[in-house]
Amino acid sequence: MSNQERSRARYKRLVVPGRFQPPHNGHLHVIEYALQHADEVIVVIGSAQDSHSFKNPLTAGERWELLEKLLREKFGQDYCRRIKIVPVPDINMNKVWVQYLKLLLPEFDGVVSRNPLVAMLFEDMGYVVLQQPLINREHCSGTEIRKKIIKGEEWTQCVPSIIVDDLKKLRFEERIKRLMEDG
Ligand code: NAP
Repeated sequence: MSNQERSRARYKRLVVPGRFQPPHNGHLHVIEYALQHADEVIVVIGSAQDSHSFKNPLTAGERWELLEKLLREKFGQDYCRRIKIVPVPDINMNKVWVQYLKLLLPEFDGVVSRNPLVAMLFEDMGYVVLQQPLINREHCSGTEIRKKIIKGEEWTQCVPSIIVDDLKKLRFEERIKRLMEDG
């Protein structure tokens, strides 16, 4: 099947893995894109074991709550009829990561991701890999948001306004700055 045919097909269930550090509009677009191609979408909160590090400042539980709020706002109260959020800790063996996901998740047809490692691992296992279009990368990127915080630049416009107060309550900005200072 060509890329074009793959992206026109309809699937039962697709996986959307991400770190969501923090969740932003780019992530919402990935999930929306996945919903256009599948009846059900499993949002995997990856690196669920990690928190309080510069790359992964938020805990899986914090990310889950922020994502839930965003999904409820964007897709409605009954969003969970089509979207499930599952935190998944990383494992040390990339080669068996997709098998590990098969163990933890209900059956899926493929993945939506632009991450080259994720795409490679799913492809190697014979799964469908769909790549969402890129949305406003300059603002919609966890890495950019964390960089802006370190540089003391305005970052709140990069996340959906509904979670700005929650991130402030979690002292997200202070956490990033302290993690950076600690090394
Ligand atoms: P991420 O940075 O949160 O990104 C999640 C998805 O959103 C990616 O496809 C990303 O594409 C996309 N995205 C972000 N901003 C976007 C924008 N503005 N427009 C369109 N798409 C946008 O998370 P990730 O690092 O890809 O997450 C993968 C997770 O899987 C990690 O937790 C990783 O540790 C885990 N994993 C684990 C193993 C293992 O345990 N062995 C192996 C593989 C992966 P981009 O890539 O282009 O940003």
